[in-house]
Amino acid sequence: MTSPIWWEFMASRQLTDARNLVDKFWDIVILGGGLGGLSLAVELSAAEFSGISVLVLEKREDYVRDRTWSYWANQSHRYSHLERHQWNQWCVSCEGVKHQLLSKDLCYASLDADAFYKAALDVIAASPNVVLRTNTAVDKVETPEPHNSSVTLLTGELVRARIVLDARPEPLTEEKGLVQQFVGWEVEAEQDIFNAEAVQLMAFEPAANGVHFFYVLPYSARCALVESTWICPAAWHPDFDSELRQYLTKIAGPIAYAVSYREQGVLALQGGSPGMPVKPGACVGLGRGGGALRAATGYAFIDTVGHARQIAKSLGAALRDGTQETWLPAAFRRSAIDRWMDDVFLGVLAQDWHRAPEYFMQLFGSVSPDDVVAFLTGRATWGQRLRIMRALPVAPFARQALLGRSL
Ligand SMILES: Cc1cc2nc3c(=O)[nH]c(=O)nc-3n(C[C@H](O)[C@H](O)[C@H](O)COP(=O)(O)OP(=O)(O)OC[C@H]3O[C@@H](n4cnc5c(N)ncnc54)[C@H](O)[C@@H]3O)c2cc1C
Repeated sequence: MTSPIWWEFMASRQLTDARNLVDKFWDIVILGGGLGGLSLAVELSAAEFSGISVLVLEKREDYVRDRTWSYWANQSHRYSHLERHQWNQWCVSCEGVKHQLLSKDLCYASLDADAFYKAALDVIAASPNVVLRTNTAVDKVETPEPHNSSVTLLTGELVRARIVLDARPEPLTEEKGLVQQFVGWEVEAEQDIFNAEAVQLMAFEPAANGVHFFYVLPYSARCALVESTWICPAAWHPDFDSELRQYLTKIAGPIAYAVSYREQGVLALQGGSPGMPVKPGACVGLGRGGGALRAATGYAFIDTVGHARQIAKSLGAALRDGTQETWLPAAFRRSAIDRWMDDVFLGVLAQDWHRAPEYFMQLFGSVSPDDVVAFLTGRATWGQRLRIMRALPVAPFARQALLGRSL
């Protein structure tokens, strides 16, 4: 486990700066300093925003490695240099059948959260206009009129701001909806047990309550992040640790291994925000709470970082035009067709979990890697979307498209 000590030191510096946070009318307050909140705070640390006061309110006390972000790296971004590993091969497998896919243009990349947190906190610590206050939980936010919001902290303190962006994920409810839930172990084996060349995207297991698969990021032949993952109703609670032990026994046999790190997540797979605040006066969301999590995949990293960059770009343009007094941030937008395809896809899976691995295998087995990745990353052309649709069996998908989703 990574030591949080130096981050505590930096956070305490930020805390000193933020003592007067309630006396001030902030230009921008960001609720939640995870991926979405810190990404925007970093963008707003640039010199062009030195006249804009920014406060990030984060409930955690310190930052440690708590997740591993992976994505198809089809373009570089601000944090590309922090990637821990890249692969240009990935595979999916089910009941002895395996599709190994190779792309010469695309790679699958992985970045440890602690590297991102350190980079972001360093930028914020050096910034004269951005303040991060950790150990501070937000209770509620009210916007009685545009450009005038009040944020109430759990301590009862009131923070006032012209613009509030909400980077807190929506709370999970068990009553309805699908989730992607997983536990990952970083494993170090005493002998070679992993194929270091290829990411195992999905190694399907038979399951009745959802789609179950193992996901393996091999950093070397002996070291990998191994995750047991379910796409299933929120009320289903798998025994992840037993599943991981059994999987490792299957692939490692008697070879000894140690678990050096553990992560877990439960991500709500909703169709995604249509891109507008829910009601007048509601603040624009960032990250998962802002609709950046792709329902069909559970990926959010690239869209979250991209949304933060777009908000900063539009504020920069407003500053140059002198229209900053009336500027409002734009919500994240995903195309209606991608949201609809995600809804149909998840609806079909939920109708018949047994057949779900077959659909994924068909998709990865008959469509080119570039087409599949373009779809998964939201960059597909109409031709690519059509090829995806044609690769899937007509009857269940047409039925779901016509009758709608019932999860
Ligand atoms: C273990 C794990 C692995 C993942 N792997 C991937 C991946 O490989 N690829 C990918 O694209 N996506 C992945 N995701 C999904 C997604 O990218 C992450 O969840 C990402 O961190 C979402 O960013 P966010 O800003 O919405 O939320 P977070 O990063 O979770 O940040 C939200 C912040 O809000 C704070 N907060 C919450 N409530 C309050 C409150 N009341 N007051 C103040 N602060 C509050 C939290 O402490 C947290 O710091 C993963 C998620 C998890 C959990």
